[in-house]
Amino acid sequence: MLPPQPNHLGSRKERFMAPRASRKKSQDPRHSGTEYQHPLRIVPLHTAPRIVSATHPELTYRNGPLLTNAEVFTLFWGSAWQAAANSPLMTHMNDFFDFVLTSKLLDQLAEYNVPGKSIGHGKRTGTTVLTSSEPGKTVTDAAIQKMLQSEITAGTLPGKTANSLYFVFLPPGTQVDQGGSKSCTSFCGYHDSTADNIFYAVMPYPGCAGCEGGLAVPDALTSTSSHELCEAITDPVPGTGWYDDANGEIGDICAWKTKTLGSYVVQLEWSNSADACV
Ligand SMILES: [Zn+2]
Repeated sequence: MLPPQPNHLGSRKERFMAPRASRKKSQDPRHSGTEYQHPLRIVPLHTAPRIVSATHPELTYRNGPLLTNAEVFTLFWGSAWQAAANSPLMTHMNDFFDFVLTSKLLDQLAEYNVPGKSIGHGKRTGTTVLTSSEPGKTVTDAAIQKMLQSEITAGTLPGKTANSLYFVFLPPGTQVDQGGSKSCTSFCGYHDSTADNIFYAVMPYPGCAGCEGGLAVPDALTSTSSHELCEAITDPVPGTGWYDDANGEIGDICAWKTKTLGSYVVQLEWSNSADACV
């Protein structure tokens, strides 16, 4: 858990850890002049100081898309995933998605239904280990987007629908660079959308104390994945769905507060109706 840091009250600048979008201004409908900050979409490190906003959390809907019946495809990038030491984690994560997409975690998101968009259960549509290319020691967000686009074109990944969500898992030893911010230094995972609305989440291997959060690796990864899953459902294009300008997305407000659901560790999510992390 992340204890409040009263000396950081109102420190808005530090809350926005995520870098600006790599999209050009003119392509980004969210850009609104010089005040623009990229919407929060990362899982912060467990050890990062918890910045408590002076503003009470209240998600508001910004008229963008929602994933009403999420279709999750898991992609494990790199031949390292074929090693005997890593394959149990792949199985664990696929089993987790099969469970969580029809669980109470998704039921609780129904309070964020809007006219014409009802959030229901989802499903895992498949999985693959991608070995035709390697992520290497450092992989950029731009390279991840390019990989997704080319693998969808090649048919290695299913074509996108309005509900598609591609979860990209990186192997041990690969650091993700998102606009200069790095995994295990600045974040433990994030979700985003490409300019052509491919919705995706990036989950670096939690190989550092800040991203294990005192949990075993499989539990840390289900916790951070549940954070990104709920955010991708309620705010697939960051900042255009359910969002709070001061506090971020549904999972950001409750970062590293966890519960056990079935046999999995998941993160609590912000509930407007309960006025609490639930
Ligand atoms: Zn988040």
